[in-house]
Amino acid sequence: MKIERRGVILVICAPSGTGKSTLIKRLMKEYSNIAFSVSCTTRKPRAGEVDGKDYHFLDKDEFLRRRDAGFFAEWANVHDNFYGTPKQATLDFLEQGRDLLFDIDVQGANQLRQNLAQGAYIFIVPPSKKVLVERLVGRATDAPEVIARRLDNARAELNEARHFDYIIVNDVLELAYYDLRAIYLAERTKRESLPGVLDRLLAEW
Ligand code: 5GP
Repeated sequence: MKIERRGVILVICAPSGTGKSTLIKRLMKEYSNIAFSVSCTTRKPRAGEVDGKDYHFLDKDEFLRRRDAGFFAEWANVHDNFYGTPKQATLDFLEQGRDLLFDIDVQGANQLRQNLAQGAYIFIVPPSKKVLVERLVGRATDAPEVIARRLDNARAELNEARHFDYIIVNDVLELAYYDLRAIYLAERTKRESLPGVLDRLLAEW
């Protein structure tokens, strides 16, 4: 039978400290049809991170070997570590009609856009620089020089936000979540996402 619904692709980017992970977790908890694109990375696992669920953790040689073999739909060097999206897993999920969510950086998003025709590109921003600084300092997990570098990166990333389809300002988390959910639901009801429905109905006439 022809698949009625085509999987939605959500590509979500944000400077660190903007609440991206919280928003993504909540959306995936509410909608079980959304699969998370598990990236490969050379970064070391953080406490609580699970290999194969949060990331596929690889050493640098293995990452570069896979990169050179064309294993990735996109890859980038972020904060001195390599990150990449496995191509085949992406295609498999889409073929199953699953919705797929990518949590990647702006360089990766730009590459992905060239390789995948569909997708909603969403950029999450803080309400102000002041608030972002407060959030990064408040997390107290990073050294001051790491925070300074993240802020520097944030400017470059914000500059790229102009290429995205949607901007969510995360001031009040609850409202930012409603925005994200609204985007997801709108994408699901796009005509291109429902090719089989019209065909089936027309066949009844
Ligand atoms: P973290 O190390 O904090 O998990 O992620 C650091 C940054 O790398 C985040 O902005 C995250 O979105 C990005 N990232 C994670 N996976 C990928 C990936 O597969 N490709 C790219 N280009 N960026 C990624």
